[in-house]
Amino acid sequence: MKLTLRASGERCGWRPGCRRTARVLSLLLCALPIGCGPERGSQSEAVSAPRTQEASPAAERLSLSPDAKLDTHEMLRADLERERHAADGGGRAWLEGVPKDGLAYRVGSRQRFEVVYQAGPLGVAEGGAVFLQISPFWGWDPSQTLYRDASGYTEVSTTAEGVALEVDGSSFQLLVVSIAGRALDEGEQIRFVYGAGEAGARIDSYAEAEARIFIAVDGDGDGMRALIAQSPSLEVFAAPASRLQLTLPSTARPGEKVRLTLAALDHVGNASTPERGEIVFVDPPAGLALPERVSLEPEHRGHRTIEFEVQAAGVYRLRAYGRGMLEGLMGESNPLVVREELPRLLWGDLHGHSQLSDGTGTPEQYFDYARNVAGLDVSALTDHDHWGMRFLDATPTLWQRIKRAVLQHHEPGRFVSLLGYEWTSWLHGHRHVLYFSDEGEVLSSMDARYETPSQLWQALEGRPALTFAHHSAGGPVATNWQFPPHPELEPVTEIVSVHGSSEAPDSPGRIYSPVPGNFVRDVLGQGYRLGFIGSGDSHDGHPGLAQLSLAGGQGGLAAIQSETLTRAGVLAAMRARHVYATSGPRIFLSVTIDGQPMGSILTNGGEAAADGQQLSIEVVATAPLDRIDLIRSGRTATLPGEGRLALSHGRVIPRLAPGEFHYVRVVQEDGGAAWSSPIFGPSLPQAASAENR
Ligand SMILES: [Zn+2]
Ligand SMILES: [Zn+2]
Repeated sequence: MKLTLRASGERCGWRPGCRRTARVLSLLLCALPIGCGPERGSQSEAVSAPRTQEASPAAERLSLSPDAKLDTHEMLRADLERERHAADGGGRAWLEGVPKDGLAYRVGSRQRFEVVYQAGPLGVAEGGAVFLQISPFWGWDPSQTLYRDASGYTEVSTTAEGVALEVDGSSFQLLVVSIAGRALDEGEQIRFVYGAGEAGARIDSYAEAEARIFIAVDGDGDGMRALIAQSPSLEVFAAPASRLQLTLPSTARPGEKVRLTLAALDHVGNASTPERGEIVFVDPPAGLALPERVSLEPEHRGHRTIEFEVQAAGVYRLRAYGRGMLEGLMGESNPLVVREELPRLLWGDLHGHSQLSDGTGTPEQYFDYARNVAGLDVSALTDHDHWGMRFLDATPTLWQRIKRAVLQHHEPGRFVSLLGYEWTSWLHGHRHVLYFSDEGEVLSSMDARYETPSQLWQALEGRPALTFAHHSAGGPVATNWQFPPHPELEPVTEIVSVHGSSEAPDSPGRIYSPVPGNFVRDVLGQGYRLGFIGSGDSHDGHPGLAQLSLAGGQGGLAAIQSETLTRAGVLAAMRARHVYATSGPRIFLSVTIDGQPMGSILTNGGEAAADGQQLSIEVVATAPLDRIDLIRSGRTATLPGEGRLALSHGRVIPRLAPGEFHYVRVVQEDGGAAWSSPIFGPSLPQAASAENR
């Protein structure tokens, strides 16, 4: 996640704050490595409790995340409480010298944009201001007024006689143009030229429709501003393709049809759109009824899905190369394991953002990419409740649009889309809320009624919904584990995403700014029963493939063991913790104890030998294996991977005692990793309560 000030021309509750606040927010923005949260180290020596809680200072600290971002929460709360004048956010703006529609620019290119702002009926008072805000997200050059030769140089002018413009470009990505001399009256204009110097201005790194150059207005001069209703927008398209992405399901049974998703992607994973080309399979394996080659035509927009039959059991990997406009490109698929009676595996990315909060791309583009480019089975778009350029909890039209997009893309049996959002609490950590139905509301972490995890769960009880914590060990803000995960509503936790892994201090790709003692392994040790999923937290519009961007090579996926590709099937599998996590690659992983799948709670009885239990592990990797860690209640044993691509292992282990847990961590030589959900020992005698421990 990521932060910006924002303002909305839609009549919503956002009070974008005084200019001082705006500056603080802007400064925060530039400190964010991958778009999530306030500066590190803004920790809570000065902890004070949220207003809604009455407690002693010590108790107040106990009730919050160990690294709660009180300042951020209070700044957002203060903004919410401020009044806004009717003239704020007034007027309109457009791009000059170009057609209104059909503006399309290549990612990362240098451009020059003329943006004209025209005052509305209430004008802009003397002492008021008009703001040019370049998106703080994902590669746009900040605007600046100091160096003509440097990138992002911006000129500001007006033809309104008697109006003097005082331009302050010292705030990162926010150009403040104060109105002096007299008011800017209705119909009078201010012209911004962004990228006016030779270097132009570099635009967005990620392909998206409706990329906006934001204009905000403080119409009365009280220091509060709001975005105008419709800031000018343009389309940003991908760079030429530089890789082929081949995606197969991970499991199938002989005689079944499977789907192969082929996509041409650019250097950061944007869906490229080469007009024509051919994808040719290298040594297509016997046992698959594959065509020799697949052609790409303009209407395929750079990606295609084909179906073919798998005829024989085995492990298959496809390799292919491109011809025509795809000349020189190569790609290799994930492994497909074909066998009778193999549990069906669905791949999901349940955490990502669009331009409706702090990501790129529209909600429609997000789901299209998830299904047709990344070849996912399940996807949720989880924009922030109260964070980004515009706020979901205050802008009903945004939530309506997300609901529509979810509905449009949901196709049981083919692709499951889920309605959801990120409960972006700076006091207790971030959680996702997923609805497994077409209806659901934004229960905002900024709303005093849903400010704590308990309040949130209470509001969701009895509904087909789930929550899960993410970057729980640290990163932008750690999870407050003092609220035991709700046993029905929070059966799983996201242990890996672009932020890194929250599994344990020794985890591959461990999260930044970790809080000691707050890792998932620590809380399993306290008796919490959580399954593991990964999800991308993609902000680049690439659900399912967040690991491809420049952000750091690590993403997250959720593997879900469900026979049915429906919301009910996915919900049931997640509630039973029949899931596992990967950092992006589609590693096949099966772990059982006495034949019970991952996520199970074992009983003391059973058929197994009285002195032990049978642990079985099967891994089919996407790259040579470095090692497999067997983690039992904090103690780790390691099997060497020996550079192999597949490994099966069985051993008898001492019976899991009440309170114990056992999971498996797979680490590849390329850094990719997978984590099975734990299998748990029997319940502790006193744990038969409603608590999840
Ligand atoms: Zn997020
Ligand atoms: Zn987050």
